[in-house]
Amino acid sequence: MKEELDPFKIAQQQLDDAAEIMKLDKTAHALLREPMRTVTVNFPAKMRDGTVKTFTGFRVLYNNARGPGKGGIRFHPEEKLDTVKALSAWMTWKCSLANIPFGGAKGGVICDPKSMNAVELENVSRGFIRAVSSFVGPYIDVPAPDVYTNSQVMAWMLDEYEKIYRKNEPSFITGKPVELGGSEGRFDSTALGGMYVLREAAKLLKLDLKKCKIAIQGFGNAGEFAFKIATELAGAKVVAISDSRGGVYSEKGLDFDKLAQAKEKTGSVQGFEKAEKITNEELLQMDVDVLIPAALENQITAANADKVRAKLVLELANGPVTPEADKILFERKILDMPDFLVNSGGVIVSYFEWAQDRAGYFWSEQEVNQKLEKVVTKSFADMVKTQKKYGESGRRIPPRMGAYIVALERVAYAMKLRGWY
Ligand code: NAD
Repeated sequence: MKEELDPFKIAQQQLDDAAEIMKLDKTAHALLREPMRTVTVNFPAKMRDGTVKTFTGFRVLYNNARGPGKGGIRFHPEEKLDTVKALSAWMTWKCSLANIPFGGAKGGVICDPKSMNAVELENVSRGFIRAVSSFVGPYIDVPAPDVYTNSQVMAWMLDEYEKIYRKNEPSFITGKPVELGGSEGRFDSTALGGMYVLREAAKLLKLDLKKCKIAIQGFGNAGEFAFKIATELAGAKVVAISDSRGGVYSEKGLDFDKLAQAKEKTGSVQGFEKAEKITNEELLQMDVDVLIPAALENQITAANADKVRAKLVLELANGPVTPEADKILFERKILDMPDFLVNSGGVIVSYFEWAQDRAGYFWSEQEVNQKLEKVVTKSFADMVKTQKKYGESGRRIPPRMGAYIVALERVAYAMKLRGWY
């Protein structure tokens, strides 16, 4: 039978598995299987040659029982509503596990940012916000950057929103430049949060990070900072790294600065000549202690999960391990840390940004990082505690299910308090 790779079906399957283990109320389960609101918009944007093109975008509010929606906006030529729905579900569980006062949401626009110039990008960013303006806001649904959107895009979106509502409202969107109310520490927060999870998971496995070999798939925002932090702060050795064109390997460990320079010059980590070239598939099967998928979804599947040799998998990307692969890794006693815990640092610091904007009072990077560490460490402990609780009743469950149960209990309880079921 062919493995299911549709991201929303995967999200629903994970939810169903957790609901069955925790015996979630049937009405709450049904409510949580679908997004509460799905908006599709078609809007115009002027191109550089003076023509006007119609673009399609989505904004999905998955659940707002615990607070306003929260989630990024992706620009991608192959953006699909089902992907946005899946990501909005994962945002809901991520915010709940981190115990921050947000629900979950996500947005996307079908466009090819690589072929657009800055003016076109600005017009699409503003056009999308005009189209969804009544569905977003600091107390309704708070957007942020995601794939192919960045702090400049957030700045245009903020400006458009403030023009429509004729007031300053920096807490409408997060991931902004610091000069417009962004938070210190937001840029590398996803990777930093992931590194706190790495530290805690290494303790569980009694791994000495200073002696660990790490392979990272992806050298973008998440993967690059993970490399830097793992080597500089944790003292680990990154022996393999890849991007969309392939990867490189060095038994001695790769030098971050030299690799970044090679990437800058040639456009790929494969431009780094002092290492052996490898494929992405080989990277996933390397003999390392820790494997960090930090690129795309569906990378470790039923087809290759039995070839993974790492002791610990740290899912920095969203959805890199399929449910079938999840089961295989669990049976093989490979510790797999779930995405919505590992990459929660970004949304946690987004929450700090929203809180700072609302207070009009800003924190130093050190304060932000200390607070981030506390939240991630607590989420990790909540996940392990729940996993153990179910283990005691005779049912050994994977970390992802522990994390799901913590998140679902909180969302379901908020819905109960509101009288939704
Ligand atoms: P990015 O676009 O900055 O980088 C993606 C990297 O993946 C690039 O190096 C690209 O070359 C590489 N890549 C693309 N196709 C690949 C392939 N087939 N094999 C190997 N590498 C490939 O994106 P990012 O922000 O680093 O995000 C990466 C993942 O982390 C995504 O799943 C994203 O949803 C998740 N994530 C990121 C953040 C964040 O704050 N950046 C937050 C939460 C989750």
